[in-house]
Amino acid sequence: MALTDKYGRVHTYLRVSVTDRCNYRCVYCMPAEGMSWVPRKELLTYEEIARIVRVFADLGIRQVRLTGGEPTMRADITQLIAALKATPGIDDLAMTTNGHTLPRLAPALAAAGLTRLNVSIDSLRPDRFAALTRNGNLERVLAGIEAARTAGLTPIKLNAVLLAGENDDEIFDLVEYAAAAQGDLQLRFIEYMPFEARWHRCVPAAEVRRRLATRYTLTRTPDKIGGGPSREWRIAENGLNIGFISPLSHKFCDSCNRLRLMVDGHLRTCLAHEDTPSLRDIIRKGATDAALAASIRTMVLGKPDGHHCEVDGGEVFEGVMTGIGG
Ligand code: SAM
Ligand code: SF4
Repeated sequence: MALTDKYGRVHTYLRVSVTDRCNYRCVYCMPAEGMSWVPRKELLTYEEIARIVRVFADLGIRQVRLTGGEPTMRADITQLIAALKATPGIDDLAMTTNGHTLPRLAPALAAAGLTRLNVSIDSLRPDRFAALTRNGNLERVLAGIEAARTAGLTPIKLNAVLLAGENDDEIFDLVEYAAAAQGDLQLRFIEYMPFEARWHRCVPAAEVRRRLATRYTLTRTPDKIGGGPSREWRIAENGLNIGFISPLSHKFCDSCNRLRLMVDGHLRTCLAHEDTPSLRDIIRKGATDAALAASIRTMVLGKPDGHHCEVDGGEVFEGVMTGIGG
């Protein structure tokens, strides 16, 4: 029986945060200092993650995305990828990364069975990239994207978060960079979501499209089959597929099909709210797969209706992005 909540939403997609640590400190994601990391013994082990994913697959989860923190910072991530790839029912295994380790890791990720890759890139100017990521290396990330193309992890989705007055003058540069890869790259603009505090101002998707329309012809294309938050468009002049993830200006809570397994085993049924007990604790107390499945069903039934955050107000999202898995 499908994993359904009390509003009738069916869940087929699980994001797994494998680490809350990161080699970058993006300004919209983490504070510069004062992060406290989840102690290692409190992290889900790879065996625990694989078991939980197997139980989720039995409950109808078909897509898994590894995220974090920076998922490639966790040792031997390819072992987890191979284990999840072998899980019956999981037919799409993706990862979101900042790209820094891809020059070295891309071939191994592809060989382990990763089917899709998203790389976050918010600026194409080395100085600004370093400032936004607090010391990230643009050259490395661009080389990483090339390594992922060579390894066949295409099409790669580039995730860009636009912050008003900080990098929103790079919309056209990002489009031109992605379009030059002739179909290997797709671009998605993600609206900034305020966690705990409102440090930045988001650029609503409609405003990005308005600016793009001053130079290009945009046509709406069909969204992903089975739903997904991205609203898809195509640029006629260069053939680039471009997606908009607009959690604030165009909420998609009504059709949300996702769940998030946090780094310490808590199941976050809604990105915006902290809730639910830890699946790790349930497992470590000796629960059977059937008992684990029953707990998951109960947690999903209690999923909140959605978030109540607006472009210019409302609530902020609870918790820290890196532990939840963006
Ligand atoms: N470290 C990896 C990366 O940067 O791609 C994976 C984890 S990161 C938390 C996942 C995605 O969340 C990234 O694309 C990042 O840009 C996005 N993100 C982080 N904080 C955000 C925020 N406050 N609002 C919107 N997107 C955010
Ligand atoms: Fe690290 Fe990704 Fe967060 Fe940037 S967005 S600080 S790369 S987890």
